[in-house]
Amino acid sequence: MTVDTAAHVIDGKAFAAGLRARIADAVPAFVAATGRAPGLAVVLVGDDPASAVYVGSKGKATVAAGMESFEHRLPATATQTEVEGLLAQLNADDAVDGILLQLPLPGHLDEQAAVATIDPDKDVDGLTPVSAGHLALGIPGMVPCTPYGCLLLLQDRLGDLSGKDAIVVGRSILVGKPMGQLLLGANCTVTMAHSRTRDLPDLVRRADIVVAAVGRAEMVKGDWIKPGAVVIDVGINRLPPADGAAKGRLVGDVDYAEVRALASAITPVPGGVGPMTIACLLRNTLVAAHRRAGLADPEGF
Ligand code: NDP
Repeated sequence: MTVDTAAHVIDGKAFAAGLRARIADAVPAFVAATGRAPGLAVVLVGDDPASAVYVGSKGKATVAAGMESFEHRLPATATQTEVEGLLAQLNADDAVDGILLQLPLPGHLDEQAAVATIDPDKDVDGLTPVSAGHLALGIPGMVPCTPYGCLLLLQDRLGDLSGKDAIVVGRSILVGKPMGQLLLGANCTVTMAHSRTRDLPDLVRRADIVVAAVGRAEMVKGDWIKPGAVVIDVGINRLPPADGAAKGRLVGDVDYAEVRALASAITPVPGGVGPMTIACLLRNTLVAAHRRAGLADPEGF
């Protein structure tokens, strides 16, 4: 008889579906209290095909949750003033509770300046300087969706994270930095690693929790992992197509086959962290709508 010692596979798709269902269940009470549905506005500048796909699926998920979706498209030639003008208009629109500016913007635009014009109360992507400041100070605010989704998966798997050694590989504004803050807020001892980190495998080997958000296919290897660690793979990388195939396979930043043999739990790619991002965007929109309406935060989110 062989014993399967491979890690538990964390089903982000199922967890995200459950979260979306709970959000949809909470919407009617908001409608009853305010006479309107929570509204999410998504702004797409230019015609990047991947961004257009993301915007389309965000819109569909918003409507499926019983919320109002507003989609705004500006041409790739839009000026900084036009982008910021549209964001100001959405800031002033009472039907809009959440604003998401789809990134990246075309190269001639100043992304940080555009994001900073979003009203922090409607910043469902959690990327404004005010939201980042709230997160760093431990003040309730809007938290970036992908790292928040990772935290929910970790808490679901491990319960209380207090005292765990966690390493976050990657320090981007979108994922790595807020992930580190969230883990610190959950009382982990956090190491932040990046491209200048020395002895990365040794540092990873000490961690009970590993979050990889690097953007390098299968970089984290099996012999970097402490037996029993929980591994969250944020990376989405497409390998070159194998012979004859139109597209290459999607893989994460973790060598799944190797790491699964040592970890106690691991997120797959696809089907792990990815589906959590949209579910947490809907969660943030629901929370923003409650706060803007002067209602208590919905329970259980
Ligand atoms: P960025 O490119 O913005 O950041 C990558 C980070 O990795 C940087 O901090 C960089 O360090 C670090 N890094 C690069 N090379 C190394 C290395 N060899 N060793 C250690 N650290 C390294 O990427 P994002 O954070 O935006 O995204 C990371 C991955 O997550 C990507 O694959 C992306 O597609 C995916 N992603 C997935 C999402 C989802 O919904 N599942 C959402 C968002 C992103 P330095 O700062 O020193 O340059």
